[in-house]
Amino acid sequence: MTSLLRLSPAELEEALASLNAPRYRADQVLQALYRRGIDSLDAMTQLPGELRERMREAGLALEAPAVIREVASDDGETTKALLALPGGTTVETVLMQYPRSGRGPRSTVCVSTQAGCAMGCVFCATGQMGFERNIPAEDIVAQVLHFQRLLAPRGEHVTNVVFMGMGEPLANYAETVRAVRQLTDPRAFDLAQRAITVSTVGIPRAIDRLAAEKLQVGLAISLHAPDDALRRRLVPTARPNSVRELLDAGRRYFRATGRRVSIEYALIDGVNDGPGQARALGKLLRGAGMHVNLIPLNPTAGPFAAPSRRGVREFRRILTEAGVNATVRIEKGAEIAAACGQLRTDVDAASGRGSAASPGPG
Ligand code: SAH
Ligand code: SF4
Repeated sequence: MTSLLRLSPAELEEALASLNAPRYRADQVLQALYRRGIDSLDAMTQLPGELRERMREAGLALEAPAVIREVASDDGETTKALLALPGGTTVETVLMQYPRSGRGPRSTVCVSTQAGCAMGCVFCATGQMGFERNIPAEDIVAQVLHFQRLLAPRGEHVTNVVFMGMGEPLANYAETVRAVRQLTDPRAFDLAQRAITVSTVGIPRAIDRLAAEKLQVGLAISLHAPDDALRRRLVPTARPNSVRELLDAGRRYFRATGRRVSIEYALIDGVNDGPGQARALGKLLRGAGMHVNLIPLNPTAGPFAAPSRRGVREFRRILTEAGVNATVRIEKGAEIAAACGQLRTDVDAASGRGSAASPGPG
């Protein structure tokens, strides 16, 4: 079986040509999938039934993920869905909306690229599940279409996609890049490449590979520590010298793509949020032209707590004084467990499913 959402427009044309369908049928299918949000082959009534039958026989399929649970934050700006993919795997996808003056809201979908994650970051609910499987490109695209279908009736649409849900996108490299191409193809979902950000725990060789793809997607590197000893405590799979290697890879990415790289730094109380660490980070990043996103920890796994507001402000002030741009990423939807991996951990625990870690703050 091949999902229609997996095929590039050129591949779709080829597949339909081999079924002797006229050329314009590919455009009809693309319109149905990406403009009209049609989510099953049966619902593609603009195609003759007999063509749909031949497509089915040729193994072409279209199946939407089933919604296991969907929760919205009190202000309605964050919606989190737990989706069962056609293979049965469950993943989380989040929609975050930000009002903008004079036009519709910015609507960012946060997609998952793996069920679980092998990287084992000690503060991350997904990391504590361990690795389950890679998500194929079509199911990454389907996560975006899920929310597009929710927005369309309101006259709104998905404006940005961030690869910051469950899993490490660059450890599922080929499917991640295929999904990016599909989401940005003018004949498919037609999002601007600049509206996409890939967040990575940092695999230098994969960052170089991504830089060579000639895409204009943004890159976020999850650093979390100014030195290797601390980084390896938080990201057990980090290599010695990973801090230097990652910043070098970030600089190469910027040179190759012209896109500025941002640094993600999850602030954990008493672990990596001290003034000395802020100064060390400032020194490390001075002049690097990288923007820092400070994310106050959303406590999930392990004995870690969120930093105080004052601590966060102070950390940011030290960075700014060192000439490094930093913003505090406001955690949207904390009350609906919007940190990656949390909702699924909650549902798994409630249903006694899987070996997921305790959702409690430990
Ligand atoms: N694997 C990729 C992308 C998914 S995680 C990565 O690590 O970058 C997306 C971001 O959420 C990362 O910066 C990650 O460090 C952060 N994150 C994970 N768990 C968190 C938590 N409990 N609180 C705050 N940020 C968290
Ligand atoms: Fe994986 Fe990212 Fe979580 Fe680390 S923070 S375990 S890389 S999903």
